[in-house]
Amino acid sequence: MPIQILPEIVAAQIAAGEVVERPASVVKELLENALDAGATHIEVEIHGAGRQLIRVRDNGQGIPVDEIELALHRHATSKLAAIDDLSYLETLGFRGEALHSIAAVSRLTLTSCHYEASVGARIVAEGGQVLDVRGVGIPVGTVVEVADLFYNVPARRKFLKSDVTERRHVVQVVSQYAMAYPDVRMRLMVDGRETFHSTGSGNLSDVIIAVLGLETFREMVEVVPLPPLRADLPPIQVYGYTTLPSLNRSNRSQIHLFVNGRLISDQRLTYAVVQAYHTLLPTGTYPIAVVMIQLPTHEVDVNVHPTKAEVRFQSPDAVFSAVQRAVRRAVVDAASAPSFQPSAEQVYWEDDEVESAAPLPVTTPKPRQHRLEFDWQPGRYGHQIGDETDAEIDDTPYFSAATPPYVAPTAPQSDDELPEGVGTPRRPRTLPILRVVGQVAATYIITEGPAGMYLIDQHAAHERILYEQFMAAYAAQDLAVQYVMETVTLSLGAMEARLLEEYHAALAALGFEVEEFGKQTYRVRAVPAILADRNPAEVLKAVLQDAERGDVPAAKTIEEKIVRRVCKSAAVKAGQVLSHTEMQGLIRQLERCENPHTCPHGRPTLIHLSRDQLEREFGRI
Ligand code: ADP
Ligand code: MG
Repeated sequence: MPIQILPEIVAAQIAAGEVVERPASVVKELLENALDAGATHIEVEIHGAGRQLIRVRDNGQGIPVDEIELALHRHATSKLAAIDDLSYLETLGFRGEALHSIAAVSRLTLTSCHYEASVGARIVAEGGQVLDVRGVGIPVGTVVEVADLFYNVPARRKFLKSDVTERRHVVQVVSQYAMAYPDVRMRLMVDGRETFHSTGSGNLSDVIIAVLGLETFREMVEVVPLPPLRADLPPIQVYGYTTLPSLNRSNRSQIHLFVNGRLISDQRLTYAVVQAYHTLLPTGTYPIAVVMIQLPTHEVDVNVHPTKAEVRFQSPDAVFSAVQRAVRRAVVDAASAPSFQPSAEQVYWEDDEVESAAPLPVTTPKPRQHRLEFDWQPGRYGHQIGDETDAEIDDTPYFSAATPPYVAPTAPQSDDELPEGVGTPRRPRTLPILRVVGQVAATYIITEGPAGMYLIDQHAAHERILYEQFMAAYAAQDLAVQYVMETVTLSLGAMEARLLEEYHAALAALGFEVEEFGKQTYRVRAVPAILADRNPAEVLKAVLQDAERGDVPAAKTIEEKIVRRVCKSAAVKAGQVLSHTEMQGLIRQLERCENPHTCPHGRPTLIHLSRDQLEREFGRI
């Protein structure tokens, strides 16, 4: 065949191959045009997974009547006039290729009304041939309808995937642009049904919730811009949201990157996000992230690829490091933040000093249910006190099957667990046998004893129990340690980091295995077993904050202080509803504490109202 210049139509169809790969690419180009036109409302409709029809409607500035034909020409654009303009490009489009390419491989109708005009126009094209242009009356804005995509390129049509896949790509592209433009209201209709919409509230978090769901969003932390490392680096702002290590995926497809509002794919920057989780995520797992990168337009070359999905940076290393640092900071900060909601109670620390509740972290993972330990057995005490407890004893749900995350406390097992007559002698009773009557305010346990009523503070009582068990195990050098399954890192301030070094030996003796793993960053590998269902980072931070407040005491006191804090963290909280069985278990243990009347910090664990007092109060005597 002799060399010949291809007919324009054929050339257009070939060129279209670069821009229009599938229905989702059409949607992307049309969305970009609508955004460039300053639209605040955009509606995307697809039928037959976009093969039959794609319609994008916007309320942007519109196209003047006399330019409407030009819009379909190749290299016809209103966004750039000279090559240098690329350095200052504020728009998503600039190549003037999209409409031309789409028109070449479909039946396209473009209807538009410019905001300064009273009347609009419509142009109809088929396979790149203009069939009709006429004036029409429509509201300001533009509607582009693309029917029968690839009707004239059967080879392309064959390469399309299943409807499910093609639809998924469309949903993906619409939701990604919705995230990049939270102030634009977007709606996606699939075969007449709304599948997605964003409110245009301007809040990225709102769109992320719409796209990824509230559950996922709850596991995300906000990425905020950090100051540049050096003054000579270009100003690069990185912001968005990324998941905590607790939530991850087996592939990178949920790492969404945007540069100056443009959706991009960039392996290196994707790697920067993954790299930010180094040692926080198991290999082969990846976060879900929405990362916006904002930098001066001249720092980025967008003219790399016809789909404009790849960009080139003037200072790629600076961008890489900005992304990596910002994401890492967000994740590491979150790892050291409290992971359970502080209870509503005011927690008391030494001498009734009121401790303010820790600020709520951005995400509030559900607190794990704390289980009380039971060291008593049915029949042994129950029948001595009241028969009504026997029914409860039979179905002790927590007693028979401790839930997996819970590890039996470190304390020497009570001989109640052993057959009669075996093991160490029982500790003497320090309180009378108490019968549980009920719970008030999910905080106090009402009990009855031979000498009247006892009101017991469940948190203080449990603290006392744990403290004595812990100290006994410590004295017997029998402390149990729980290895932390999920890596927990702790990022500390300079002062806290210094205290941690100082406390290292004491902490290690008590079962904390903490290793340095970066500047002021530590990894918690093991904790005392009574903390098995508590957030170790949280407890360690609390220990250090206690230390920061007081003078640094002598070694022995440090350990005691740590133990008190550990027990405080491990103890059941006020405000937690307990079952009758749990209350019984708690009371049984308290009855045999050495000092059952006070918590380790000296607060009372119980208030006794004698029969006499009650009678006096009621005017009986
Ligand atoms: P580009 O976006 O690269 O300029 P396109 O082929 O996508 O090229 O669009 C050509 C021109 O048509 C644009 O430059 C713009 O002036 C006009 N245009 C296309 N879509 C719209 C729209 N939705 N609203 C207003 N103008 C539009
Ligand atoms: Mg365009």
